[in-house]
Amino acid sequence: GKVLVSGASGFLGAWVSRTLLEKGFSVRGTVRSDEKGEYLKKLFASFGEGKFEYAIVKDIEADGAFDEAVKGVDAVEHTASPFHYNAPDPQALIGPAVNGTVGILKSIVKYGSEVKRVVVTSSIASIIVPVTKHTVFTEKDWNTVAPKEVEEKGKGASAGHKYQASKTLAEQAAWKFVEENKGKISWDLVTLCPPFIFGPIIHEVPSFESLNTSTLELYKTIKGQRANEDLVKPISSFADVRDVASAHVLAITTPEAGGQRFLTSSHTYTWQDWLDALADSGLPDIPKGVPGGGKDVPRNTNFDSSLAKQVLGLKFHSIAETAKDTVVSIRERGW
Ligand code: NDP
Repeated sequence: GKVLVSGASGFLGAWVSRTLLEKGFSVRGTVRSDEKGEYLKKLFASFGEGKFEYAIVKDIEADGAFDEAVKGVDAVEHTASPFHYNAPDPQALIGPAVNGTVGILKSIVKYGSEVKRVVVTSSIASIIVPVTKHTVFTEKDWNTVAPKEVEEKGKGASAGHKYQASKTLAEQAAWKFVEENKGKISWDLVTLCPPFIFGPIIHEVPSFESLNTSTLELYKTIKGQRANEDLVKPISSFADVRDVASAHVLAITTPEAGGQRFLTSSHTYTWQDWLDALADSGLPDIPKGVPGGGKDVPRNTNFDSSLAKQVLGLKFHSIAETAKDTVVSIRERGW
């Protein structure tokens, strides 16, 4: 079958495309320019002539943006959405996130008559709320804090909450769309909620500064740009990009996944854990930080990914593997 991947030029989208190709699917990736499309065509040339094609979607927010792209595909992976912390106006994130998601679903209803399954890349951003004691979040939880803060404070909301609101509102819009269009649609929806995603990069990145947000965050640590006290604070949770990409493929190939939301979180971490994981990697020039200093700090924000393990059969890389492969892939580019 053929699968449409929106945002194929992104960190995750490129891996979702590659993993689909490895499993024998044909892929149509949406990108914003011919240059990005041609880069991917070359990257995926070894899978065979015509296995990867691209469609230009300049702005996911525009009315009917995906009308052409959805024609003739059997499934859709919607990964495209802005992820950064430098939008003064929250609408710069919420607009493309929500309208991009609703827009692609509308295009599928109109022109995607062969589509059986739609996967929307959500995030733990749509699940978490601040906590002060040990908490295990599951798929039943929703972020009620960020959308409210953005509604009340607008531009004054925190950068993190602006992004979280965009992901929460987009995922909620997707479920609402399915509910309201029950009679009209021949596909079902799966949403995936990964935590921070790290791992090797295969997409086109013109400069170090234009690396995607999560890779840049990890790399600040590896370049020794974090104070010791920040290295040992509990941060959040991560999953390897290859595992999150596998989850996207399994979300299509697993019939029982339909109609479900999945957390895909591997480990909680402190930044120090990454330095510790790299200490034994044999890679040169890794800062030491405070060896072992992150181990026993209480980690209040935890996630239960047992549903994804049971239903999708999802497995995770270790932090040591993710850490080493990330650093190797960045250094290969001379950074
Ligand atoms: P990237 O920034 O690397 O990729 C985002 C993709 O979306 C790119 O292909 C980008 O195109 C495209 N895109 C963004 N805005 C628009 C727009 N307005 N019009 C057209 N295309 C657009 O980010 P990631 O790969 O990290 O993120 C992919 C998905 O995963 C997102 O939905 C994100 O929210 C989610 N996610 C990411 C996590 C992470 O830690 N990385 C964690 C949890 C969820 P272009 O390349 O042209 O900019």
